[in-house]
Amino acid sequence: MIKLPGLTGRIVVAGASMGGLRAAEQLRAAGWLGSITVVGEEPHLPYNRPPLSKEVLAGRAPFESLAFALRDSVADVEWRLGTRVTGADLDDRWVELERVDAEGTEGAGERLAFDGLVVATGMRPRRLRCPGPTVGRHTVRTLADAEGLRTELLRPGVRVVVVGAGFIGCEVAATAVALGAAEVTVVDPEPLPMLRPLGEVTARELLRRHRERGVRFALGTGVTAFTGDERVTGVLLGDGTELPADVVVESVGSVANTEWLAGNVLDLSDGVLTDEQLRVGGLPHVVAVGDVARFPNPRYDNVPRRVEHWCIPGDTAKHAARTLVSHLVGETAGPAPFAPLPTFWSDQHDFRLQSFGAPVLGTGDVRVLDGDTSGDVVMGYHRDGRLVGVVALGGRAAAGAAVRYRAELLRQPALTAS
Ligand SMILES: Cc1cc2nc3c(=O)[nH]c(=O)nc-3n(C[C@H](O)[C@H](O)[C@H](O)COP(=O)(O)OP(=O)(O)OC[C@H]3O[C@@H](n4cnc5c(N)ncnc54)[C@H](O)[C@@H]3O)c2cc1C
Repeated sequence: MIKLPGLTGRIVVAGASMGGLRAAEQLRAAGWLGSITVVGEEPHLPYNRPPLSKEVLAGRAPFESLAFALRDSVADVEWRLGTRVTGADLDDRWVELERVDAEGTEGAGERLAFDGLVVATGMRPRRLRCPGPTVGRHTVRTLADAEGLRTELLRPGVRVVVVGAGFIGCEVAATAVALGAAEVTVVDPEPLPMLRPLGEVTARELLRRHRERGVRFALGTGVTAFTGDERVTGVLLGDGTELPADVVVESVGSVANTEWLAGNVLDLSDGVLTDEQLRVGGLPHVVAVGDVARFPNPRYDNVPRRVEHWCIPGDTAKHAARTLVSHLVGETAGPAPFAPLPTFWSDQHDFRLQSFGAPVLGTGDVRVLDGDTSGDVVMGYHRDGRLVGVVALGGRAAAGAAVRYRAELLRQPALTAS
């Protein structure tokens, strides 16, 4: 019998969050008629993560409001939730599964065969390896994390130390202040919050705005240990200071969930390396989407990077699904190279950071494009004299003004690698 993969095959999607859901939708949109099985470690159907550090933590968003709507096109998708992918053979085309729940694991070793595979296993928080108690230390990635942290932040007189002044750390600090925490201190070895992605001028203004709204900062120093017996009571810093702490939030970056791919010939040094069609390891039947995908972007310098922005699961899924389906149905030509314009926002206190493009590539030449630095402002980031990104800081007016530069960013010629 002639096998028609477009009609009878199976695509497995590993990871049941935004990237996994968007991949399933886009596989259908690309014409895939075969079966789709989405395997996810969490017990929930896909939900939206950005509110976890903002509305959910603040108690303004119940879980039901986070769940993504399931479109009709994915009504026949099989969801294997509470199930972890533990291994894969990409040449022989199978993944290995085990069930996970509060009691532990079971069913280890079940094999699921596939014709095509989508890698969508995302990231998990990096943890600090410092001596001291672990009780009272939190991260924010999942709904359970946010709910657990919220309970602790509601304790009267709570003193909070946030380790890491990246976007999640800054958001959590702002939410903790809004919840009435007695003290909120952000610690970071860098001299300014969000310095690497925003550059000095914008980061300095961000610091000013946070301080004005009650967040304290211990910058230019890192954490060396946590104090306390059963649970954390303080944070010891490299400069010798001890900050009292009832709750610690670690937001010190993330680690890619790629261990299950070990044993295949892949570059897993930072997420999973893909080509410009989002194919993994040169294999036409394996693609990656979302935070975990490290892809070259011909719009910029073609250096492969992971991009942990909310827009990326959707953008990558659309492209990767076309790549995969065109291979599985036997088309010779795939889509044009993937060249997204990343966008990003972060809500902190009463202001929003809104970014388009790749400001990180232009932090050496930052100019005010609109407004004034201490109010509603749009900053332009340049490399070799060309605009590579914009960041708005302020209210809706600033974010709206930034949108006007989107078209200009899309018109810019490609950057060459330096
Ligand atoms: C707290 C927070 C706030 C954010 N706020 C913003 C914001 O304001 N603006 C913005 O632009 N972006 C924001 N983001 C980023 C955005 O949410 C992410 O880019 C997006 O969630 C990435 O989706 P993903 O599906 O690629 O990965 P993930 O959401 O990480 O999903 C991966 C899924 O795979 C599962 N998984 C992992 N390993 C396995 C395995 N072996 N087997 C089976 N399943 C597995 C995980 O449990 C998880 O459900 C935020 C992220 C967080 C965590």
